[in-house]
Amino acid sequence: MEHVKLHIPGPVEVSEKTFQAFRQPMIGHRGQGFKDLYARIQPQLQQLLSTKQLVFLSTSSAWGVMEGALRNLVARKVLNCMCGAFSDKWFDVARRCGKDAEALQVPWGSPIRAEEVEKKLATGQFDALTVIHNETSTGVMSPLAEIAALKRKYPDVMFIVDCVSSLTAVKVEFDKLGIDVVLAGTQKAFALPPGLTVFTCSPAALAKAATAKDRGYYFDLVEFQKNAEQSMTPSTPSIGHVYALESKLEDIFAEGLENRYARHHKLAQMTRDWAARHGFALFPEKGFESVTLTCVSNSARPGGRVVDVPKLQKLVKDQGFLIDGGYGKIKGTTFRISNMGDETEATMGQLYAALDEAMKQL
Ligand SMILES: *Cc1c(COP(=O)(O)O)cnc(C)c1O
Repeated sequence: MEHVKLHIPGPVEVSEKTFQAFRQPMIGHRGQGFKDLYARIQPQLQQLLSTKQLVFLSTSSAWGVMEGALRNLVARKVLNCMCGAFSDKWFDVARRCGKDAEALQVPWGSPIRAEEVEKKLATGQFDALTVIHNETSTGVMSPLAEIAALKRKYPDVMFIVDCVSSLTAVKVEFDKLGIDVVLAGTQKAFALPPGLTVFTCSPAALAKAATAKDRGYYFDLVEFQKNAEQSMTPSTPSIGHVYALESKLEDIFAEGLENRYARHHKLAQMTRDWAARHGFALFPEKGFESVTLTCVSNSARPGGRVVDVPKLQKLVKDQGFLIDGGYGKIKGTTFRISNMGDETEATMGQLYAALDEAMKQL
């Protein structure tokens, strides 16, 4: 079957080089070969996150660590900042874990604002806070540095940040921002196959986790730390993913972090320009547009264009590209185009050409 190239916001297209790395011969996860592999990538992972902490590898999708962080770190009450499908879900997950949770809900399309977070934290009720840096469902990037700056006044509140669709495309300075847990699933901006999550924890988070009696085993932060100190994971990891990650980090540092960040900015701007050329508005509030994906508004706003989204998807798919038709309650009233991973001006140009052709036929 002919492969349809992925421009959905995860999973994204995986390079042949990455797959070649993935399929190297298996090694034992308690042997020197694995320890050497993990030790080799550790400094690059730390550099990526601007941290001195050890970076952990979890064989799970992002939700494993998103849930695990709550189980390890929420003793009293968690404030879940909600601005789209993934962040809304995190609140639901907190309640399913039996945690006392409060929603800080803003309308979809809006970012989380630091002042609103601070107002809530000032009540003194919370010992944990969840924020999604780049809300993939709405294409909104919240101002993480501003939130972090105000959050500093509340050092006892565990700051848990999802950078699933931003890490490697935007600078995230873990130590400087005072984050307690940051996590990223690898099928988004890392452009690896799904099934691995990279994360790190502050010393305060590790100390607090040690006091949580019902934190379980698979996502026990203390186990991750103990094992990482010996370049190992608590249980058998997906070793293929770790090979693939080594290969991808090689790509990332060969390109250079600043170049990689600039490339994502440029490509996202090109997609916004494509939308504007066709008379579409963008779904995110101005100034908070994601740099890894573009959420295009397809609602009958004055001056805004409206198309049959499933038909647009079909016309683009017939030319070999998959775009997303909108997520959750904004399915059809938006559509999303990803520029995560290895995309270039040339490859995005091919997608815009296919989109242009489709628009002619709508
Ligand atoms: C994709 C995504 C998730 C969920 O990832 P899974 O791999 O399905 O666990 C969480 N948060 C954000 C922001 C995402 O984009």
